[in-house]
Amino acid sequence: MAYVITEPCIGTKDSACVDVCPVDCIHPRKDEGDFEASTMLYIHPDECIDCGVCEPECPAEAIKPDTEPSLEKWLKVNADFARTWPNITQKKDAPADAKTWDGVADKFATHFSANPGSGD
Ligand code: SF4
Repeated sequence: MAYVITEPCIGTKDSACVDVCPVDCIHPRKDEGDFEASTMLYIHPDECIDCGVCEPECPAEAIKPDTEPSLEKWLKVNADFARTWPNITQKKDAPADAKTWDGVADKFATHFSANPGSGD
């Protein structure tokens, strides 16, 4: 079992989860306000120890246990990108336009980008 980051993270990228994760298994984002690069964060399914401390830290409520139903797409997205992109180990400031993406529906279809972030 692991936790998984879902659609509300796209564009908001608060990254409070990064500061509390004891095993640094949260992968990347990019901070330059470039929405085309690393639009969200991912949890590495093989590194997550299922402690659950990240879930209540996310203001967008984007983090879910993988036991919840209908998360198949997000399980694949987290696994695919967390395995190929670098991790980050400290919280960073949210993007300047983060609030404009909070609560927006269907962001994966219209605004998701597969471009990597730079890690730290
Ligand atoms: Fe990290 Fe624990 Fe969250 Fe997994 S559940 S991503 S180990 S804080």
